[in-house]
Amino acid sequence: MSASQAGFHFEVEAICKKSGARAGRLTTPNGVAQTPLFMPVGTRGTVKGMTPAQVKDAGSTVILANTYHLHLRPGEATVKQLGGLHKFMNWDGPILTDSGGYQVFSMSDMRELNEEGVKLKSIVDGAIVHLTPENVMQIEVDLGADIIMAFDHCPSDPLDRDSVEAATMRTGRWLQRCVDKYEELGGIASGHALFGIAQGGAFEDLRQTSIDHITSHDLFGYAIGGVSVGEHKSALVQAIDFAAKRLPPEKPRYLMGVGTPEDFFEAILRGVDMFDCVTPTRHGRMHQAFTSQGRMNLRNQRWQHDTAPMDPDCSCEACRGFSRGYIRHLAKSGEILGGILISIHNVHFFHSLMTEMRQAIFESNLPDLQERYLDVMTRRI
Ligand SMILES: [Zn+2]
Repeated sequence: MSASQAGFHFEVEAICKKSGARAGRLTTPNGVAQTPLFMPVGTRGTVKGMTPAQVKDAGSTVILANTYHLHLRPGEATVKQLGGLHKFMNWDGPILTDSGGYQVFSMSDMRELNEEGVKLKSIVDGAIVHLTPENVMQIEVDLGADIIMAFDHCPSDPLDRDSVEAATMRTGRWLQRCVDKYEELGGIASGHALFGIAQGGAFEDLRQTSIDHITSHDLFGYAIGGVSVGEHKSALVQAIDFAAKRLPPEKPRYLMGVGTPEDFFEAILRGVDMFDCVTPTRHGRMHQAFTSQGRMNLRNQRWQHDTAPMDPDCSCEACRGFSRGYIRHLAKSGEILGGILISIHNVHFFHSLMTEMRQAIFESNLPDLQERYLDVMTRRI
């Protein structure tokens, strides 16, 4: 199974025989990525605390940047004048920009929402900012990302049927406007591949409606949105299960804003290919490391005299050169290097896990790997 459009290509290379898990290959004009794929988040054009060389060395191939934040500061005109997003942030691999939909509806001071778009108060300077499907497409193209996301309406309460239904129908209408503007700007031939986003919250009929809307457009890929905003875990798994099997098998499937190693297993077993989350760097700054022995709090006194690396099974820059005792000292002293080293390790750990899962998919034993990781993922050390 594969799909090709103007320098972009996605190919499913293997399917785990014990589950619906897929291993694939995503090609963009700026590079190739293997799936399942974890994309670290560089909200403001930087993966927090890491240089691009460190991000690459940790195993990253595609990184994510945030349209809403970059639009507010420094503005897409400045990014474009400074050479576009790749040059601006010195990342020569593929970049994905989200559309700002999630931030607009979850974080910002929204002033007005109507069919035209959204008016909100900038978190930077208080100015009123107007976002519409058309200008979000223009912003993302001006930023210059390889993969761009449609502007969707992400309902704040995924359990409130009336608001989810309104958001689902509006997301469908806004996608048509996104596609029209995207085509006017040159479409995929201009070097930007558009993904549509399915909404629908916890309601299967609305998820189905939203999937029907997005798959009526021949887009390069499709995303499952609105599932990581506070639902119960089983509802999250149900929503993923429902959506993933209804998306076109030859196209990449991206689960937005998820999350943790536990969630990756649940989603990949159900056929999801791509993920993004701030987890590894956010936990790094809080001195929490994901390791092959459990989730490690580097501030604990038990590490004070420990000469071993954070994770003896890890080959990252932090584990090659630094002891638990030293990193604990940095964390306790408030030194920024502590958070940096743990972020480097966490990003590396997430990529290593994806590589291990990919191998398990080729060997058709991903459920067995999940079984082996269950204990590790819940242990706190
Ligand atoms: Zn490491």
